Amino acid sequence: IRSELDNVERLTLVGQMAAGITHEIRNPMAVVRGFLQLMREKSPEDLHSYYHIVMEELDRANSIINDFLSLAQSRVSDKEMVQLHLIMEELTPLIWADANLRGQSVELKLSPSLPLLRLNVREIKQLILNLARNGMEAMEAKGVLTLETCEHEDTAQLIITDTGSGIPQSQLKQLFAPFFTTKSQGTGLGLSLCLSIAERHNGTIHVESEEGKGTSVIVTIPFEPKEEPAEIEVYS
Ligand code: ADP
Ligand code: MG
Repeated sequence: IRSELDNVERLTLVGQMAAGITHEIRNPMAVVRGFLQLMREKSPEDLHSYYHIVMEELDRANSIINDFLSLAQSRVSDKEMVQLHLIMEELTPLIWADANLRGQSVELKLSPSLPLLRLNVREIKQLILNLARNGMEAMEAKGVLTLETCEHEDTAQLIITDTGSGIPQSQLKQLFAPFFTTKSQGTGLGLSLCLSIAERHNGTIHVESEEGKGTSVIVTIPFEPKEEPAEIEVYS
């Protein structure tokens, strides 16, 4: 029953988002159309300065479609028993390369001794990359991104901390709303996607932030419930 409910909830979300998508894709289309009109009127030199705007708008439309598809995919989530720090270690070179290009650094605090988690590896990688990218996008050069895993009661925690801009109190409630973005090239779908992935793992996402100091995003995923020992009937 639980997974059926999840699917219904997800379909509702997808329905609401289809309306948002239409709106979001029309903006880039309008820009491209305007550009094509200018091509008839302007000299090639003038057009040069518009070129990158058009490319960026097309890229943004593409990102929106990609994020939306990831969110809409209602395939049965195939999970396997894995160790979180192994997934993190696989992703580190990718994140490190990205941070390096921005002049930022990455610190790892991975606990190798966590119990196994039942995870959809593809989805969890997507979640980590999205959160890491948000952290990097919030920081200037010299910023530090910290990736941490630890155990907390019956859960594993994945904590991604940046030394970036922080998030104004007034925005904390909107963060996970589809299409909420403060970036000119943002889709506003990254955190919605992360939340839906966390929920598909019975997990939660918690954000702690201080303006001007930075942000920690804490993803909590419960360990598998331990098998209860079978009850033994005692006859007397
Ligand atoms: P996008 O990254 O495309 O804007 P997200 O859903 O990933 O969309 O994030 C939504 C918004 O939340 C961002 O535009 C930004 O304002 C805010 N945000 C998310 N993560 C952070 C962070 N680590 N530091 C500061 N702001 C953040
Ligand atoms: Mg994002």
